[in-house]
Amino acid sequence: MPYFNETQFAMRDAIRRMVDKEIRPIAAEVDTSDHIPERIFHLFGDMGLMQLWVPEEYGGPGGDLTSVCMAREEISRVSEACALIAGMNSIGMILPLLHFGTEEQKKRWLPLVAKGRTWTAVAMTEPESGSDVASMKTHAKKDGDSWILNGQKCFITWGNMAHYILVFARTSGDKGFQGISCFLLDTKTPGFRVGRNERKMGLNGVPNVQIFFDNVRIPAENLVGEEGRGFIACMRILDMNRPTVGAAAVGVAQGALDASLDYAKSRKQFGRAIAQFQGLQWMLADMAMQLEAARALVYECARLVDAGDFTRLSEMSSMAKCFASDVAMKVTTDAVQVFGGAGYMKDYPVERMMRDAKINQIFEGTNQIQRIVISRHLLGMH
Ligand SMILES: Cc1cc2nc3c(=O)[nH]c(=O)nc-3n(C[C@H](O)[C@H](O)[C@H](O)COP(=O)(O)OP(=O)(O)OC[C@H]3O[C@@H](n4cnc5c(N)ncnc54)[C@H](O)[C@@H]3O)c2cc1C
Repeated sequence: MPYFNETQFAMRDAIRRMVDKEIRPIAAEVDTSDHIPERIFHLFGDMGLMQLWVPEEYGGPGGDLTSVCMAREEISRVSEACALIAGMNSIGMILPLLHFGTEEQKKRWLPLVAKGRTWTAVAMTEPESGSDVASMKTHAKKDGDSWILNGQKCFITWGNMAHYILVFARTSGDKGFQGISCFLLDTKTPGFRVGRNERKMGLNGVPNVQIFFDNVRIPAENLVGEEGRGFIACMRILDMNRPTVGAAAVGVAQGALDASLDYAKSRKQFGRAIAQFQGLQWMLADMAMQLEAARALVYECARLVDAGDFTRLSEMSSMAKCFASDVAMKVTTDAVQVFGGAGYMKDYPVERMMRDAKINQIFEGTNQIQRIVISRHLLGMH
């Protein structure tokens, strides 16, 4: 059975044309300059790519997880950094509002995101709280009709560009899952400050910044979901979004395989194309096999979510993210090997792809954490 329906195939073709025209010519420069031109964000907004998941009743394209995965895979074949723009609003706003927001909150914010000019971020990680999300120290205290937010977050993707940030903060207790709430913060609010933009191994062009909250006043109506139940909300949102990380990993691996096939056919040693050597043929076959297995897992997970079958969502989405990102790391590393010395140089895209692929094993929960989730399900310990 194909992964996509007719509408999704048509959308994939449109994205492919856009990527060839707009992204391919600048992909290397985005990496070296560590900057994505603003027109790319507007282009993505106009094509509905940042807001795919917004239902039609709120003015959005009415896409689903399969569409978001497809968009991220397609763009990631050429630039994983640019692919991150597609779906940037999924965990920052759309999923939390759809699953935990009130009707009033949905009506207020979803039509705004649907226009494609509103950018969001999500802020969980702190300098001393990464995998152990429940140990976060950022806190919010009730004050009349508002909350007063204090603390700091780090590594926040799009944190310096976002109009709204979904901030997770402790509203009661001092540790554990209970007592964490989430808020939609308007970044124009006094007391919000952006710090250092990190220099990274890959994913250049995408900002990752420190953010600080100094007595930031958030109106009570910006609390998303139940007070003190933000951690549970956060886990659910991540479960739904993780397959999109797997899809980006599949995309970058496919890009690396495509480049390897072209190079193996054109590069000659010992009087013939290196593609003639069985050592390389088997390597290419392994790359393709792993890639197809990863793709099947990602889209099976997306299919289940889109069909409303959440029974195995947590373990399946961890498997999709973990497996696909491990495959992407292996395939992009092998691609560099296929290119030999040229693969280590910046003249070809495979060295960038290998650096970019690494992030998928780390963010949205490291692959060690995904393996913990999967094994807990296997052992009935969740
Ligand atoms: C480019 C980038 C973008 C990011 N974007 C965002 C963002 O937008 N918003 C946000 O909130 N965060 C973001 N993050 C943070 C990211 O989610 C965390 O880096 C990640 O969850 C890991 O946390 P940590 O870095 O603190 O590592 P740690 O938790 O300190 O882990 C260090 C190592 O220990 C391992 N480890 C930890 N606990 C266990 C355990 N119980 N069992 C076995 N191994 C364990 C980890 O797997 C890892 O290998 C981003 C990170 C990066 C690098």
